[in-house]
Amino acid sequence: MADYVIDDAGQDEKFPIREDGLSAAQLLSGGDGLTYNDFIILPGYIDFTADEVDLSSPLTRKITLKAPLVSSPMDTVTESDMAIAMALSGGIGIIHHNCTPEYQANEVHKVKKYKHGFIRDPVVLSPNHTVGDVLKVKSKHGFCGVPITENGRLGGKLVGIVTSRDIDFLEDIPSQQNQKLENVMTKLNNLITGTSGVTLQEANSILEKSKKGKLPIINENGELVALMARTDLKKNRSYPNASKDENKQLLVGAAIGTREGDKQRLQLLAASKVDVVVLDSSQGNSKYQIDMIRYIKSKYPELQVIAGNVVTSMQARNLIRAGADGLRVGMGSGSICITQEVTAVGRAQATAVYHVSEYARKFGVPVIADGGIQSIGHIIKGLSLGASTVMMGSLLAGTSEAPGEYFFSDGVRLKKYRGMGSLDAMNREDARGSAMDRYFHNEMDKLKVAQGVSGSIVDKGTVLKFLPYLQCGIKHGCQDIGAKSITALRSMMYSGELKFERRSQSAQLEGNVHGLFSYEKRLY
Ligand code: IMP
Repeated sequence: MADYVIDDAGQDEKFPIREDGLSAAQLLSGGDGLTYNDFIILPGYIDFTADEVDLSSPLTRKITLKAPLVSSPMDTVTESDMAIAMALSGGIGIIHHNCTPEYQANEVHKVKKYKHGFIRDPVVLSPNHTVGDVLKVKSKHGFCGVPITENGRLGGKLVGIVTSRDIDFLEDIPSQQNQKLENVMTKLNNLITGTSGVTLQEANSILEKSKKGKLPIINENGELVALMARTDLKKNRSYPNASKDENKQLLVGAAIGTREGDKQRLQLLAASKVDVVVLDSSQGNSKYQIDMIRYIKSKYPELQVIAGNVVTSMQARNLIRAGADGLRVGMGSGSICITQEVTAVGRAQATAVYHVSEYARKFGVPVIADGGIQSIGHIIKGLSLGASTVMMGSLLAGTSEAPGEYFFSDGVRLKKYRGMGSLDAMNREDARGSAMDRYFHNEMDKLKVAQGVSGSIVDKGTVLKFLPYLQCGIKHGCQDIGAKSITALRSMMYSGELKFERRSQSAQLEGNVHGLFSYEKRLY
């Protein structure tokens, strides 16, 4: 009996507690496919604060994250900005491959080279640009502190900087629109710069002492490599849970396909020091994927490989035998997905996560619950069924770090979100059909049959605020369950201590807001 049960002086024998709720095995072995909304978790006993809950969990055999959160390799979800934010917050981002190998490898490179507090892609102008150009930068970006390099690009030789002071003190600005920046900029000999390799603290104190707003960072050849802004410094928080490698660089993953051409892509990704590759197929149990896992394991033995997607133990067995370090589970559960409708193949997500996790754990292979995550509750349910991490698409799309520009429709600020199997994604011009690899194994499949849709998502603000909200919610869920860590949650599930219950349709309605004329749902 668990040691938290209060001594009852024999009361339990007189008034025994009847077995209440179902174990995961009982819940999910009935033959019906269940998904997250079909069940609920029964509460346990709390003897710790939510803050104390440890969210660390393995992504693969060798990589453990401080937060069980992964962003999906979709071209409207994960490029370098999202991957940086995910890693800073303790999770990881997987860069999509619906782009050229060079573009993808460069996105990986940006994450690996990211230094917190430094602006990696500042707006840069040349001495031949004009005051009018600076005013345009100001109206578009809201600032006018712009480093000036010989060629007007990052990586060019730094020759000066233009700041608001240089512009504001010009007399009669409209008549000076065509004035060349070389005549108004602060020249290099009057500039304070930092050298590459400078730490955040050192750069901060240079800015403080010099009372300047911007600090250009140059390398030994005097070329501009980054910029630091005082206003950003004030906003900077520290990220103690950031996911980092042994060189203190952020962790990042990248998706690839299983074709011959993907070997060259892989080579570029490995050269950019990618930490983990995800073999991106909707049905991963294939000869192509098994061959690719073996190839990667022989050529890049240190590289972690996540295989999938799978939804049955039989599929998982083949990929684990081939050497997979992690498995991605889900087929047809994604919010933009029409796979089940088009192919009649797939599985309800809760059932898939439970069965694959239960099998894979025997080999020490962690599982990612991929797709269908609409809320914190779904994350907790995925983890409570044995997944070690969850992968999200729609939940992260629409944030400022997701690729793509915002647009307005009926006064609502939106961003595009689309399935990688949507015609829209498969027809992307610079993609060379890589999104198609996810859905078609054969180059002969010339007719594209869409397995996803293209839509839009409401602006959610920055993911750097959204991810802490998710983590805080997961901790509260674990606390209610009585699990002080995700590892404890998993062991409680496998020991049968964790109890579940199926929810009828009306129980599901009851579990949501109901009976109100109107309400506002603000989440954090
Ligand atoms: P979401 O979090 O429910 O939006 O699901 C995201 C997941 O859906 C991804 O991680 C993929 O596994 C899956 N997915 C992405 N694109 C497609 C598609 O076009 N069809 C089917 N599934 C997709």
